[in-house]
Amino acid sequence: TAQFTIDHIRQQFPALSQESNGQPLVYLDSAATTQKPRAVIDTISQYYQGQNANVHRGSHSLTAAATVQFERARETVQHFLHAASSKEIIWTRGATEALNLIANTYARHTLQAGDEILVSEMEHHANIVPWQMVAEQTGARVVKIPMKADCTLDLEAYYQLLSPNTKIVAVAHVSNVTGTRHPIEAMIHAAHDVGAIAVIDGAQAVAHETVDVQALDADFYVFSGHKIYAPAGIGVLYGKQALLEAMPPWHGGGKMVEKVSFAGTTYAGLPGKFEAGTPNVAGSLALAAAIEWLQGLDRDASEAHIHRLREMALAGIADIDDLRIIGLQPHASLFSFVVDGVHHQDIATLLDQQGIALRAGHHCAHPMMDALHVNGTLRVSLALYNTEQDVERFIAALQKACSLL
Ligand code: PMP
Repeated sequence: TAQFTIDHIRQQFPALSQESNGQPLVYLDSAATTQKPRAVIDTISQYYQGQNANVHRGSHSLTAAATVQFERARETVQHFLHAASSKEIIWTRGATEALNLIANTYARHTLQAGDEILVSEMEHHANIVPWQMVAEQTGARVVKIPMKADCTLDLEAYYQLLSPNTKIVAVAHVSNVTGTRHPIEAMIHAAHDVGAIAVIDGAQAVAHETVDVQALDADFYVFSGHKIYAPAGIGVLYGKQALLEAMPPWHGGGKMVEKVSFAGTTYAGLPGKFEAGTPNVAGSLALAAAIEWLQGLDRDASEAHIHRLREMALAGIADIDDLRIIGLQPHASLFSFVVDGVHHQDIATLLDQQGIALRAGHHCAHPMMDALHVNGTLRVSLALYNTEQDVERFIAALQKACSLL
């Protein structure tokens, strides 16, 4: 692995050298989506300049080569998640589609009236709404795992809620609002003890930590490419092979079938069964390129860099009047805050005018905002390409914004 030096990293991200509102861009919104390194941009552009062909279909050399690369990309993801087989890796458009796939196949066909789906109060809407939809279809109930005042999950309450009625536990690996890392190892174990399966939303985790789905014993694990330096429109559903094999397909169409006739259709095996239609081949290759790029870096050093910047940012804003950090987590790559008496969007606008990009709002987590009694927060989320200068600019811009409001 190459040594981690920030200058070397930064020059690989063309989007970071632009100006925003007349000033060099400071990008502090990587939890929403990361910027893309050249290795990823070049993969997409080379694919469309040369290799472009449909996969698993034709009988010519281009399609054969594209198919080999497409399946190699799946193996890259398999190894990245430490899955037992590449058949357990299903391409999706992102975390949202992967969660909807589970809800529409596994959940829809196994849940019955009276069954319960335990969902944490801190989830992104993508890990709440699909469960509500399938609950409506099946008569199952969505039950909330409550959050404590420190923005960690109430594990005692979780253990109490688990019962033979529990069929699914859905929880994020890492919260997109506070960066809380939920104790998913213990939660998965406890879910299995009552015969439930565990669905883990890894959208905010995979960019920052090594994931081993077998060690976790996760039944399903999902993530989006665009939050890990790859493009939007590609994501991953990992599922245990036995579960995926027992699940009915969701989308129907080409590639997910073995034989179609008007007398009846038989379905393809894994992973094709869940991949109807022409896939996002360039996206798959670009996601593999992003993973390989990330794995070529010293990840401990890059995470240490991120955490040092975060500590610097927190120290720099600590004495701003009425500023409150929401649920501070010691090891997160992001933090949320509010300034009492000032609307979060007003601050975001004044920061934007100074070239600082961050997220203000509810972060697609209405239930969590309700539990916190706020209508939104500001969120600073860091990636390995951020610099000390970014943090200094942010601190000065926030001080200025707060003095004006
Ligand atoms: N879960 C979490 C924790 C997220 O942060 C996000 C994206 N903000 C999602 C799910 C949804 O991801 P996508 O929109 O890429 O499907």
